[in-house]
Amino acid sequence: MARPLETIIELQEALDLLETAERQLEDIPDWMRELDAEYQERKSQIDALEQEAEDATAARRAAEAGISDAQEKLKRYQKQINEVTTQREYGALLQEIDTAKTQVASLEEQALSSMERADAANTALAEQREGFGDLDQRYQAELAKWEKEKPGIAEEARKLSERVEVLREHVPRGLLSQFQRIRKRNGGQALAAIRRIDRHRGPAMWHCAACNYNVRPQVLVDIQDRGALIQCDSCKRILFVETEEEPATTAAQG
Ligand SMILES: [Zn+2]
Repeated sequence: MARPLETIIELQEALDLLETAERQLEDIPDWMRELDAEYQERKSQIDALEQEAEDATAARRAAEAGISDAQEKLKRYQKQINEVTTQREYGALLQEIDTAKTQVASLEEQALSSMERADAANTALAEQREGFGDLDQRYQAELAKWEKEKPGIAEEARKLSERVEVLREHVPRGLLSQFQRIRKRNGGQALAAIRRIDRHRGPAMWHCAACNYNVRPQVLVDIQDRGALIQCDSCKRILFVETEEEPATTAAQG
């Protein structure tokens, strides 16, 4: 039967793989990231231009509606001018006519500039869309490829979940809750490898790969000899010895 330390090492590995698979399923894969960024950027530029063209067209319509209102008013005033009887009424009406004319002129300016804005946006939009076609095609092709890969990853995630369940059952309950507590505290990582410190002279020394705190040589021996469960004195992660780091095989010469 595997030692508890070996089981939790396997459990940590399975959990890491499961997390990666689940993250992939929720997100886009790394190999799509570059194209996705390019696609999203171009897409948002196009969206912004579409919005600009739409806004400019709406502004132009509003100005045109304002012009026809003001022109209606002008017609009415011009009819009234034949009916006024006093100098004061005449003066007041002329004033109104003047105001309406100024209004028309300013609205005409607004309509014209809105038209120019819409034209500029539409021209830029046509250019953007022309280049976008090819990008869109490549993007759709990658999306389709990703859709094809997804079921395999989902299946992998399902198997990993099962594996995690089985492993959990094999870990003594007290150790499992300790493992989960440490994991929660350390962003999902309950374990830390013991690494040999690179030194040219003196006796070999080791440290915790997660926090660099020193690890006594006896700890290394206890873990290797009997799978002792020992936490790092500093970060409290459970320490383990990487198989390729075994001091017996990496003993320095001289
Ligand atoms: Zn540590």
